[in-house]
Amino acid sequence: MARLKKGDTVAVLSGKDRGKRGKILRVMPDEGSALVEQLNLVTCFERRTRTDQQSGVIRREAPMPLDRLALVCPRCSKPTRVGFQVEGNEKRRVCKQCRETL
Ligand SMILES: [Zn+2]
Repeated sequence: MARLKKGDTVAVLSGKDRGKRGKILRVMPDEGSALVEQLNLVTCFERRTRTDQQSGVIRREAPMPLDRLALVCPRCSKPTRVGFQVEGNEKRRVCKQCRETL
């Protein structure tokens, strides 16, 4: 089970976006990275290929390493470490600070 998944709100622990929060758009487990909405933006220059297309500068999310992200608990709204709890056949994620199931 993944520590982080799509739709989670995460906080950035280091780098230029340190302290910012965003929602995970996509997780790439093979690369150990994730795309986070409006974070780690890179500037791309796109050439106009059709006349109705916008040309010029585009800001887009670049993948960030998962170890630079911490899940923000929806209950205590703090960046937290994720713990796992096994109940019967189910493995659940829990907030290590308030024990809320995530
Ligand atoms: Zn919590």
